[in-house]
Amino acid sequence: MHEPRAKAILERMGATPQSGAGGEELQSVNPATGKAQGSIRAVDRAGYDARVEAALRRFDEWRMRPAPKRGDVVRRLGELLRRDKEPLGELVSLETGKIRAEGAGEVQEMIDICDFAVGLSRQLHGLTIASERPRHRLMEQWHPLGAVGIVTAFNFPVAVWAWNAALAAVCGDVCVWKPSPLTPLCSVAVQALCERAAAEHDAAGAFSLVPGGADVGGWMADDRRLPLVSFTGSIAVGRQVAMRVASRLGRAILELGGNNAVIVLDDADLELAARAITFGAVGTAGQRCTTTRRLLVQRGIAGRLLDRLVAAYRTVAIGDPLDDGVLMGPLVTRSAVDRFSAAVATARAQGGEVRFGGRVLDRPGNFVEPTIVVAPRHEAFPIAWEETFAPILYVFEVADLDEALRTQNAVSQGLSSAIFTDSLRSAERFLSASGSDCGIANVNAGTSGAEIGGAFGGEKDSGGGRESGSDAWKAYMRRQTSTVNWGRDLPLAQGIQFG
Ligand code: NAD
Repeated sequence: MHEPRAKAILERMGATPQSGAGGEELQSVNPATGKAQGSIRAVDRAGYDARVEAALRRFDEWRMRPAPKRGDVVRRLGELLRRDKEPLGELVSLETGKIRAEGAGEVQEMIDICDFAVGLSRQLHGLTIASERPRHRLMEQWHPLGAVGIVTAFNFPVAVWAWNAALAAVCGDVCVWKPSPLTPLCSVAVQALCERAAAEHDAAGAFSLVPGGADVGGWMADDRRLPLVSFTGSIAVGRQVAMRVASRLGRAILELGGNNAVIVLDDADLELAARAITFGAVGTAGQRCTTTRRLLVQRGIAGRLLDRLVAAYRTVAIGDPLDDGVLMGPLVTRSAVDRFSAAVATARAQGGEVRFGGRVLDRPGNFVEPTIVVAPRHEAFPIAWEETFAPILYVFEVADLDEALRTQNAVSQGLSSAIFTDSLRSAERFLSASGSDCGIANVNAGTSGAEIGGAFGGEKDSGGGRESGSDAWKAYMRRQTSTVNWGRDLPLAQGIQFG
C-alpha cells in the first residue's frame, strides 16, 4: 500500500514526475515504515542525452547573462524554498528518515546558500596584477565552465544539490543533477521549484534533473560535455568516479566519507562535550558524513564522560521521525541495518565492549539503537578505521593530546574533527599545521552541523573537494589570465629581445 503523505506534499508543491524518462522505476520507500510512497522513472540514455543537450543550449545564453541577473533566478528559487520549507522538509524526513527539525534544517541550508549565492553574484571577481612591462595590464578573470554534473548522496538529498547548484548558477554554469535513487521524490520536488523559478526568468534548462542509479552516474563521469562533475557519496564510489573523470582530464569535486573524531581533554567542559558528542553521534541516526564516529578521551576523565554519554543516550527517543520529541529516526534501508549489525559483531570480535545499544529494534522500519562501544587500542581495532554509516560511537582512552592527535590522524579519511578543552595552548596546537589533518577542525563545537559560510570538505580519502562558502565558487569557473598591451611597442617578458 502506498503511503499518502508524500504524494500530498508533491501535489502541494506542484511537482509531477517529468515525462520523457524511459528508464527503470525508482521506488521511494519510507524507512520508518518500510512502505512504498511513490516512484519516478530514471532517464534512459536517450533521455539523458536530450537533457544534457538542452542544458548546453541554455548555457550559450546563460554564460552571457550578467551574473546579478543570474542571481535573480537563484533569489526566486530561495523565495520558493522559503514558501515550501515545511513540506519539503517533511518530504526529506519521509525519504531519509531524518527527524522533522533536521529535514527543515536541510531546507534552511538551501535557503541560506541561495542567499549567499545571490550576494556572490555581485562579487565574482578577479585580480589585476602589476605587469613588468610598460603600458601593459595583467589580469585574471573568471568565466563559466559549462554544464556541471552534480551527483548526490541519499543522506542530504536536497542541501548538497543546493550547495553546488546555487553557486554554479550564479557563476554562469548550467546544472545537470543525478540524485540518489533512494530519494527520488525529493529531487522531483526541488526540480519543480527550479523549473518555476527558471520559467519566470526565461531560463529553462539552467537546472535539469537526470534521475537514475550507478549507470547514469557513470554516463556523467565519462561525459566530455560536463567539464566538472561534483560527486558526493562514499569513498569507494568516489574513487571510481574520480578515475573516470580524470581519464578524460575532466575536473571533479569530491565530497566523500568521513571518520570523524572528537578529542576530549581533562580540562574540558564535560557537559558541553557530552551534548556535542551525542548530537554528533546520534543525530541523523549516524548518517551524516560529519557524524562523530570516534571519541578520544583523556584517561582521567573517561569514566565520567562515558557515564554522561550513557545517561544522554538513555533519553534519546527513537521513532517516527515526524513525531514530536523523537530525536532519532531509522536507518535508510534494510542493508544499512545489516551493515550496522555486522559492524557491532565485528567490534565485539575485535575486543570492543558494547556499553550502550547494539541491537536492531523489533518493529517495522529500519530502526537500530544508538550504540557506544568501548574499544581497545586503536591500532588493534580495524573496524574503527572505516566509516560504518550508522550511529556507532567507538570510545578510545588516550594518555594526552599527542596520542589523541596521532590516533585521530591515523585513519585514511580526513573530513571533520573537534577538540573539547579549556586550554588555549591545546586548542591552538589542535588547529596548527601539526594538529588535525581534517578539512574541518572545531574547538568546543562538535564535528557535524557546518554553516554554509565556510568552505566545506575534507582531505585524504574524504576527497579534497570544497563546496559552499568562502571562495569555493572558484571551482565552478575557469580562470583566464589576460595581458593587455595599450602601448605602441611590443616589449617581451623576461626582457627577451627577438629580432
Ligand atoms: P553512494 O556512494 O552509495 O552513492 C552516492 C551517489 O553515487 C548516488 O547518487 C549513487 O546513485 C551514485 N553512484 C553509485 N554508483 C555509482 C557509479 N559507479 N558511478 C557514478 N555514480 C554512482 O553514497 P550514499 O550511500 O548515497 O551516501 C552516503 C555516503 O556519502 C557516505 O559515505 C557519506 O559520508 C558520503 N557523504 C559525503 C558528504 C560530504 O560532503 N563529504 C556529504 C554527504 C554524504
